[in-house]
Amino acid sequence: MNKRMRFQEASEKFIAWLERRVLFAGRGDDLDVLEVEPSGRFWLGRLAPEDAVIALGLGDRGERLDPCATGIRVRPATESPWAFQVDVSLKCWLRDQDRTWRKSETIGRTISVSIPDCDYGTYSFGAEELAEALQNLTDSDDLQCEVRVEVTKDYQGRSELTVLLVNTSREKGVKLADTNLYETSVSFNLQIDPFTLESLPDSFRYDRSVKAYGVNCGVVQEKGGTLRTADLITADRGRPTYWNVAASEPDLTFRKLSEDPMPSLLYLVEQLKGWGNEAWSEPSLTRRAKVESWSQDMLTEAKSAASDFYEEVDRVSKGLQLLTSNEALRRAFKLMNSAMAYSSGGKYDSWRAFQIGYLLANIETLIDSDSVSVADIVWFATGGGKTETYLGLLVTAVLFERLNGKTTGVTAWSRFPLRMLSLQQTQRFADAMAGAELIRRRESIKGDPFSVGFFVGQDATPNSIKPDVEPQSNDPDPDDPEMPKRYQVLLYCPFCHKETIEMGFNRRYWKLEHRCSNPDCSWEEEALPFYVVDHEIYRFLPTIIVGTIDKAASVAMEAAMRGLVGPPYGRCSQPGHGYVYAPRSQRPEGCLVPGCKGSKQRLPIKEAVFAPSFRLQDELHLLRDSLGAVDAHYESLLDYLESLTSGRRTKVLASSATLTGYQKQIDVLYDRTARVFPVPPPSTGDGFWTKESSQLARRFVAVAPRGATLEYAVDRTVTELQLAVRRLVSDPVAVCQECGIDPVFASELVSIYGVDVVYGNTLRDLDAVTRSFETQIQVEGAINSAFLTGRTQFEEVRSTLKRLEAPEPSFDERLHLIAASSMMSHGVDIDRLNIMLMLGIPLTTAEFIQATARVGRKYPGLVFVFHKIARERDAGVYRSFEKFVSQGDRFVEAIPVTRRSRRVLDKTLAGIFMARILMIHEPASGTALSTIKALRNYFRANNITADKETDEIISALSLTDELDEGLRNDLKVWMSRFFRNLDNPGDAAFPSDLCPSGKPMRSLRDVEEQAPIFGLLT
Ligand SMILES: [Zn+2]
Ligand SMILES: [Zn+2]
Repeated sequence: MNKRMRFQEASEKFIAWLERRVLFAGRGDDLDVLEVEPSGRFWLGRLAPEDAVIALGLGDRGERLDPCATGIRVRPATESPWAFQVDVSLKCWLRDQDRTWRKSETIGRTISVSIPDCDYGTYSFGAEELAEALQNLTDSDDLQCEVRVEVTKDYQGRSELTVLLVNTSREKGVKLADTNLYETSVSFNLQIDPFTLESLPDSFRYDRSVKAYGVNCGVVQEKGGTLRTADLITADRGRPTYWNVAASEPDLTFRKLSEDPMPSLLYLVEQLKGWGNEAWSEPSLTRRAKVESWSQDMLTEAKSAASDFYEEVDRVSKGLQLLTSNEALRRAFKLMNSAMAYSSGGKYDSWRAFQIGYLLANIETLIDSDSVSVADIVWFATGGGKTETYLGLLVTAVLFERLNGKTTGVTAWSRFPLRMLSLQQTQRFADAMAGAELIRRRESIKGDPFSVGFFVGQDATPNSIKPDVEPQSNDPDPDDPEMPKRYQVLLYCPFCHKETIEMGFNRRYWKLEHRCSNPDCSWEEEALPFYVVDHEIYRFLPTIIVGTIDKAASVAMEAAMRGLVGPPYGRCSQPGHGYVYAPRSQRPEGCLVPGCKGSKQRLPIKEAVFAPSFRLQDELHLLRDSLGAVDAHYESLLDYLESLTSGRRTKVLASSATLTGYQKQIDVLYDRTARVFPVPPPSTGDGFWTKESSQLARRFVAVAPRGATLEYAVDRTVTELQLAVRRLVSDPVAVCQECGIDPVFASELVSIYGVDVVYGNTLRDLDAVTRSFETQIQVEGAINSAFLTGRTQFEEVRSTLKRLEAPEPSFDERLHLIAASSMMSHGVDIDRLNIMLMLGIPLTTAEFIQATARVGRKYPGLVFVFHKIARERDAGVYRSFEKFVSQGDRFVEAIPVTRRSRRVLDKTLAGIFMARILMIHEPASGTALSTIKALRNYFRANNITADKETDEIISALSLTDELDEGLRNDLKVWMSRFFRNLDNPGDAAFPSDLCPSGKPMRSLRDVEEQAPIFGLLT
């Protein structure tokens, strides 16, 4: 076994040991004597007296919060009568004269159960025998319990048995201070049939059988078939592998593909076809249908999925053929591989098969303008290299466009949902473009340097830098030497990969610059080709723009946004000033450099090729509800503006964590057909592109604290985890012996399991837990903690990420605890985060999947999921926890999104119309339309009327359906009021003041609750 495998094995054992530590702490296995009340101490394995639970009056919720029963629900293989044995075991805690608590020995009994011919009923067994045992032990009759069996029928008339151990003790003991039962367990062996989960769409892909359900607990099946209650529910996910056929893997190294790609690609496509002919063939599906008792609908569904698969094979084959026949395309593909070899910085040196599959399937979009009618989604397990996958396509695209004469301008505008763009994510784009730029230079390909713009919004990075800043304002002051530092975005230099970034403001060219101070850097100019100020993005039109979705709103307010939807007006004659836009009084030639005396020059390339070729949408599934509705209007607006300025539409690429309802979502958002790569495999976890291996990636542990608050259980768990890892630091030999692992691994285990991430779905949850950390976690030495939430400041996030990536040498000085919210669930990629405590089930399953994917990225991760068990949703997940983990994607809720909302149109209309004025009318007018008077004169002179404009917006938003009648009427009314206001502006100062519904939205998130700003960047 090689070192990596041995370490994997050691990690898996260590995780199992940690889990056991937590279990024992929750139940009290290791304790026999206590100075405090056991009922206040233990939160697992205990049963409250039934009367106490009833007295609470909370019904099922109360029963879940502090249950009086635990057991297992099964479907017996035969109908009644039944006779079988149930083993129960339990302990109790007794208080001494000296007020010390002592744990009793175990009471273990085998209870005979025998149930007559019946349909329904509740039967009790062993009450006397157990009461007697308890009386002997405690010298009182305060404690009682029984085995209770409930017989019910399912909807098909088949019997179900629920076998429970119930605490029937007195609520308050006469003699005993505590009438809870502890360390309870129930087991039995009975011939059972599994339950079959309801068949949902797509069911043919999933194993629908469930052996048994736990009641207030989990169930394990031991060898020999015995079912036993479990106080923690464990579900493992294996690490995916990326080559799953017996034949050897093709050489997909960057090196090979940069030199001689075709043999490897050809081989890959052949293997895909061969695999598909097995897995998706008609005989194979028919065979499975029989064995797995599929319904006719399931079989039909499977056959239709098979045809999707064959279509995918065709696309991949077509990509191969295009690379063979189109020399420029092949050259761009090869150069892209050289660029990736550089930008990966030696971290990896080859592609995974699915990444190449995606490239082949989508490369057609670079030459076929018809493909814009389809939005292509990449759907893949997180951590599989999704970002690199579409960066591969984008780098091929930028090189191909340069080879075909697009020597300048934007190739792709990549948008992340609000709060989801991370510094690490941005860095990857910069790395990829730096690699591409070095290759461009090596190959002497003409054009501007490849560059990246970071386009997120005023509060994180500046819109512009003004020469005269008011003393009290928050605007960046060009004369303040501390100012540039605040806007550092890159973590390291994308060219030399060293942490040698320095920030500076260049007064001559009026630029806020990221610079590399490494004298050996392969980038020789002072400023890196990386722009963070909006105005610089308009001036230089970076090859790839990464930003947040809300910035689309600027198209209604900023004339220079025209560079992102079409051609600028021209270029400034002054070197280093870049593109110019609509004239304004302060900038008669439209140059955005303050006080510029230059003049407008012609554009270097044809107007029509300026518009971005691609719009990317990351985390597509988050565009839902009102944000989705608003964005749908703005996406239509962008399409409309591009078609008017450039005569074409942009290709939309997206990534999504979930596929539920994606067709409708793509239709609503983009008015395009949706297509997914890869087509999900015929059995989940077992496809050509990936397969789940037996190597543990993440262990999920469901916790439902009994008789204790969630905060308390979390405190205790963190304490236990920190105690455990601290013991590993101080006594590695003993701990390793306990776990059965080689002590050589100790310090590495300390490093990768020394940080606990506490993940809260709401800031309030997180606050409650972190407050109690300060007082409740009692371990030797300090607990160093940090936050990664929407409120965490930019610089703090950067320093926390750095500390996590390169930990201090001494354990005491490292970070031990990270309190995180959903902002860390995207793009944070740190190998040392391997333990997570999740506070409650997140609102959406997608968030669960993404958040937990932050741990266990390279090493096995351990995720404790603390259920807010009183809530129905959490209780539902808890009941089916293993399926929830193994088939999470099918639990994903459909995404609610519509574009047919009058409320939303009322919000978006001002922006849509102002954008039309700025992007279309103003350039056509040849003058500035920034004043009401100028706009009125222009409209009158050109006979532009409310009716005509209404028709334009109807076509822009495709409000042509019968169902859009209401929206069309609203639009008509709005427009005629705007034109009326134009004639009688009163004291309005600007055209945007004339909008009847108020000024344009400043950000697409205006419809949502105001979100904390710095979360944007983290
Ligand atoms: Zn450098
Ligand atoms: Zn200028």
